[in-house]
Amino acid sequence: MSGPVRMTDAPAVADRGHAAPPCVEVSDSHEATVGRFPVRRALPRRGRRTVGAWCFADHMGPSAVTEESGLDIGPHPHMGLQTVTWLVDGQVLHRDSLGSEQVIAPGQLNLMTAGNGVSHSEEATGHYRGTVEGIQLWVAQPDTTRWGEPAFEHHADLPRVDVRRGTATVLVGELDSVVSPARRDTPLVGLDLHLYGGVATLGLERDWEYAVVVLRGAARLGAHRVEPGRLAYLGEGRDALDLDAEPGTRAVLLGGEPFDEEIVMWWNFVARTRDELDAAYAAWRAQDARFGRVTSPLARIPAPAPYWTTGR
Ligand code: MN
Repeated sequence: MSGPVRMTDAPAVADRGHAAPPCVEVSDSHEATVGRFPVRRALPRRGRRTVGAWCFADHMGPSAVTEESGLDIGPHPHMGLQTVTWLVDGQVLHRDSLGSEQVIAPGQLNLMTAGNGVSHSEEATGHYRGTVEGIQLWVAQPDTTRWGEPAFEHHADLPRVDVRRGTATVLVGELDSVVSPARRDTPLVGLDLHLYGGVATLGLERDWEYAVVVLRGAARLGAHRVEPGRLAYLGEGRDALDLDAEPGTRAVLLGGEPFDEEIVMWWNFVARTRDELDAAYAAWRAQDARFGRVTSPLARIPAPAPYWTTGR
């Protein structure tokens, strides 16, 4: 997905992850449109830009698509991050500058590593008609890998763990020693939760921070009710989490070791300095080989002018 991170989401200034003690901070997502889809952007937000290395979370749809008209996000670049795409309904076609052409459906994971640069599109499949709903997440890459080669992984099946009053699918990382095959460059976890109703309990890492995004239904965390369009930040210092859910609740748990590198996010890029963003902006404008080429019927998305060059 194109993640037009705007100044209203989070100022493009260097910011370091700052974990908090155990808490429940509920924040409203920012509503936006990406491609043809309405999204509820849970991350980044002011005051809370990262949860572990997770730095972006868009709950997209549900929206109707046809065989020929889907998310319709044309080719656009990324750097310094991984995109993690997970659907709860429908199908989307991913194409990228590595030559990947992959339809994703519920239960499957697409993970694209941008490294120094990649570009991709998200399109109609040519055969699926119906509703599409899902979540797209970004993971900030650490200095040790962020200048590396781009890569793409598709996982057709992921491990599941039965928990009390629910099932957890391990998207990235591990739960109860059950490990996802997806690449991770820093210690983190992403779980998709099917909650049957009543109190579900999940084991956590005491020195990691966590957040919950509810996609369907609702869950109570202590005195706080969390529903679609909200993110609950949980801080660190917990060994376990109790989620008192309505029957049929779908939620995503994100967590990780607090990411201690100062990141700068602008448009579809995660960097450390404004100079890095300027270089990426110039390379995309110049159609430089850095971001490769995507073979797609959709138009390439131009970069907006960086706000720091327009006198803002
Ligand atoms: Mn994208």
